[in-house]
Amino acid sequence: MSSKRFAVIGDPIEHSRSPRMQMAAFRAAGIQATYEPLHVTATELADAVRRLRDGGYIGFNVTIPHKRAMPALLDSMDPIARQTGAVNTVVREGTELIGYNTDVEGFDMALTVLAGPDWRGRCLLFGAGGAARAVVAALQRRGCEVTVTNRSVESADALAKEIGGEVKILRRLGDLEAAVYSADLVVNATALGMGDLSAVSPLPPGAHFRPGALAIDLVYGRQTPFLIAAIAAGCRVQDGIEMLVQQGAAAFRLWTGIQPDTGVMREACLQPVTEVVS
Ligand code: NAP
Repeated sequence: MSSKRFAVIGDPIEHSRSPRMQMAAFRAAGIQATYEPLHVTATELADAVRRLRDGGYIGFNVTIPHKRAMPALLDSMDPIARQTGAVNTVVREGTELIGYNTDVEGFDMALTVLAGPDWRGRCLLFGAGGAARAVVAALQRRGCEVTVTNRSVESADALAKEIGGEVKILRRLGDLEAAVYSADLVVNATALGMGDLSAVSPLPPGAHFRPGALAIDLVYGRQTPFLIAAIAAGCRVQDGIEMLVQQGAAAFRLWTGIQPDTGVMREACLQPVTEVVS
C-alpha cells in the first residue's frame, strides 16, 4: 500500500506542531501517510503551490504568513474560507485545489470545550490578522457581540469590512480598560506572548477582567502574560492547544472522511519535540 502524502507550508515552519499531531492521528487511524513540514517564503509560494498540485499530495495545511495569500492560488473555496478571506487547509480533487478555513471550526470547538456549545456573550478580541478573522466568524455564528481592538486600526477596519455582519472597532485606547471589564470573553489573537514578544501582553496596564469572565489565548504551549493575568483574576482560561487540535481534526476529516482521535492528537502536541517519531 503506498503512502498518502500531506504537507504544511509556512515561514517559519520548524516550530509547527502539525506534523507530529497529524502523524499521530494517521497512525491511530491505521492510515499510511507522510506529512512534510515545508519551509516556503512568500516569494516561493506560487511555485510551491504548483509543486503541491502536481506532486500527488492529497492535501496540505497553510500557516503563517500565507493564509491570506492562498485564495488567489486556488481553484475554489468553501463559503467559510471565502467569508474570512483566509485558507489554512487545502484539499486536492483531481487537478483542482479547494480551500477551507478550519480555524473557524477549531475556535468554535475550543470554545465549546471551555464553555459549552450554546455559550454566547459580549466578546473583546485583540488582533485583526488571519487568526482573528476566524475567531470573529466563529463568534458571529454563535450570535455573540464582537468588539475588535488592534495595534493598527486600519487592519481592524479591513477585517470588519471583509467579514461583514456586526463588528465593533475600538478606536480610542482610553476605552480599552472599560472594554476589558465589560467583556464576558476576552481573546488574544495577536502575536503578543510568543517568540520575541513572549513577555508582552495586549492588556492595558491596570485592566481588570469582569468576575467570571472567560479568556482564550491563541498562542499555545506556554503561559503567556495575558493568560497569567487572566488566571490571577480568576477567569476560566484556555491556551491555543485546543484550537490547534480541533482545526487539525477538521482538516483530517476533509482529507480522509474519518473523525480522528483528538486525544492522541492533543497528546502529540503536548509532547516535547525530542520524544516524537514522525
Ligand atoms: P497575523 O495574521 O500575522 O496577525 C498578527 C496580529 O498580531 C495582528 O493583529 C498584528 O497587529 C498583531 N501584532 C503583531 N505584532 C504586534 C506587536 N508588536 N504589537 C501589537 N500587535 C502586534 O498572524 P495570525 O495568523 O493571525 O496569528 C496570530 C496569533 O494566533 C499567533 O500567535 C499564532 O500563533 C496564533 N494562532 C494560533 C492558532 C491555533 O490553532 N491555536 C491558529 C492560528 C493562529 P497589526 O495588524 O497592527 O500588525
